Amino acid sequence: MYLCRDMRLNGVYMSEKTAYSGLRSKPIITAEILCVGTELLLGDIVNTNASFLAKQLASLGISVYHQSVVGDHAERLTAALQDAFSGHGRPAADLVILSGGLGPTYDDMTKETVAAFFGRKMYCHEPSLAAIKEYFERTGRVMSENNRKQAMMPEGAVVLPNPYGTAPGLAVGDDTRTAILLPGPPSELIPMFETQVRPLINPFCENVLVSRNLHIMGLGESDVESRLKDLMISSGNPTIAPYCGNGEVRLRITAKAPSEAEAAQMCDHLIEKVTSTSVGDYIYGIDIPNPETALLSRLKDLGLTLATAESCTGGLMGQRITGVPGASAVFLGGFMTYCNQVKVDVLGVSQKSIDQFTEVSAAVAEEMAAGARRALACDVAISATGYAGPGGGTEENPVGTVYVGIATPKGTSSFRLYYRNKSRNYIREAVASRAFIATLEAVKNM
Ligand code: ATP
Ligand code: MG
Repeated sequence: MYLCRDMRLNGVYMSEKTAYSGLRSKPIITAEILCVGTELLLGDIVNTNASFLAKQLASLGISVYHQSVVGDHAERLTAALQDAFSGHGRPAADLVILSGGLGPTYDDMTKETVAAFFGRKMYCHEPSLAAIKEYFERTGRVMSENNRKQAMMPEGAVVLPNPYGTAPGLAVGDDTRTAILLPGPPSELIPMFETQVRPLINPFCENVLVSRNLHIMGLGESDVESRLKDLMISSGNPTIAPYCGNGEVRLRITAKAPSEAEAAQMCDHLIEKVTSTSVGDYIYGIDIPNPETALLSRLKDLGLTLATAESCTGGLMGQRITGVPGASAVFLGGFMTYCNQVKVDVLGVSQKSIDQFTEVSAAVAEEMAAGARRALACDVAISATGYAGPGGGTEENPVGTVYVGIATPKGTSSFRLYYRNKSRNYIREAVASRAFIATLEAVKNM
């Protein structure tokens, strides 16, 4: 089984429990997310920061009852802050996390507006100014006069340095209301949250949520649910819930406890219980990022090499496999054989099989996998051939039909998949996931 613990937090944990305790004294129970940017309102950019922040706050056991987006407009931003901290028709927020509008231009006014909201004057924070100057020197660019604006801070704010860009973040507020401001670009906001915001708010959190994902192969969602019914009913904390998507079923276990360690232990305890049921045999990994990572890890442990032979997936399987760091220890290479003649010439698929069964068939999928295995002298090969649509297909094998072939030292097998009314891209991604999971299953007892 492939295990990847604590990957969600990138190994960053809060050690400095007390470093920021001067910020406020009351616990943080509720929070709101307030994203600033006219671009967001116009739909020009997708609000991925809100999704990221919501997940992070949930993992800290903080309840989020409301999220909002405002344009770059001081009065409307002030009104949104007032709403959040006073709780219009919802529990008032102890914490508001704002994203965006920390840049150097005139329309970036989040910091000034929040400072005015708390009645704070602005001053030049010299270490930030030095860091901004250094950033421009290091990147070989000329610092413009308005970049100085990014070093201006509200009095009494905790400054959050930004090693990933120019605009520092900050935390400001009073004993019961805290605002945390982060720059809009996700490449800055995400690492800043993990390395600075988490340690900052963690001492004020009463509970922590820890989630673990058990990845399952060979069982459908309802089958998983009926096998675990008793456990699901009896378990309140941690909770246990099945999800499906991306060609697989996942069981998500979430525990709430005063500390990370306690919540993790509660999860481990429930995982042990689940593993000892009949579902246990079907779990192929815990907290894995994707099926290809699990497959490569397993093949590496077994000392087996891998190849691909792709038609309708057009190289996607190879792309996903090579996206896993260290893939070269296992993956030898792949064939992209789109046209039938290439399947025959390169992989040795027999023209007779194509004539008799068509190129979208179990026979051709198996011959493709066996051919790739032979050609690269590897241990395991995976193939896919099908109709990803929107055109093509036959009465017997309509659009959305795909055959996956798997060749291993134990022999060659295949299976049929069918996706109704799904896009080309959806089908290709789902086929690749299912093929990887099935290959894991095929090498299970090797
Ligand atoms: P900058 O210094 O780059 O101007 P900023 O803090 O002023 O940063 P914005 O100007 O609001 O941030 O946004 C800069 C860029 O960050 C946007 O063009 C967009 O690409 C990204 N961005 C901003 N807000 C979000 C969001 N909520 N979700 C995802 N991306 C965002
Ligand atoms: Mg900006």
